[in-house]
Amino acid sequence: MTADVRQVADHTYLVHGHETNWVILKDGDAVTLVDTGYPGDRQGLLESLAAVGSSPEAVTAVLITHAHNDHLGSAEYLRAAHGTPVYLHPAEVPHARREFLQQATIGDVVRNAWRPGVLPWAVHAIRVGGIEQHPVTAPEPFPGTGALDLPGRPVPVHTPGHTDGHCAYHLPGQGIVISGDALVSGHATSRVKGPQILPDFFHHERARVVASLDVIAALDGDTLLPGHGPVHRGAVRAAAEQARERAS
Ligand SMILES: [Zn+2]
Ligand SMILES: [Zn+2]
Repeated sequence: MTADVRQVADHTYLVHGHETNWVILKDGDAVTLVDTGYPGDRQGLLESLAAVGSSPEAVTAVLITHAHNDHLGSAEYLRAAHGTPVYLHPAEVPHARREFLQQATIGDVVRNAWRPGVLPWAVHAIRVGGIEQHPVTAPEPFPGTGALDLPGRPVPVHTPGHTDGHCAYHLPGQGIVISGDALVSGHATSRVKGPQILPDFFHHERARVVASLDVIAALDGDTLLPGHGPVHRGAVRAAAEQARERAS
């Protein structure tokens, strides 16, 4: 098993791949997949679906928090092989097509290589496809507003800054917030454990990342499923406030 599958609530699984997470929301045999890991996480992604009694054919839709390579890795694969729709915020759709790229460049990484953990993280990220480009040929904006008619009934919440169209997903009935890279609980390039934002060079616009913490703080919930780091239990509001304090 190359991915670590953790059940965090009824019908809800947080999966840890190569230093990136994805989430599986089950409804009977059907599944919503939130993010897809690095390109090099393909095997782990398929194994994680099997581990929860599902399959790639049973994925009703792929929701993407944002179109970075460590979240978009197998989206096009699922779309091309199984016709799975890939949904994002409208502002993130052209990013998924790679009409532009709002991601840390190799230059950014080199300039930050003195920081603890950055060099080993970069070597590992390259090994699992972090600088490969796998654009989604036909990404789609969300098919409606409010709760999506998909397994788990996730509600997209626009939390821009890390990228323009970054979205968290709220599961109000379960008190769960899937926060992507807007709010994480750990990262290979950070010595801090617990709620925090990623180091500055990962963000397209850091000030908007900090502002989006207020959006997350307003969501009812007590379970945070971040794009990086372990599940965080405790009021989501307090987690967002802690990240805001650490960022200032
Ligand atoms: Zn990211
Ligand atoms: Zn990420």
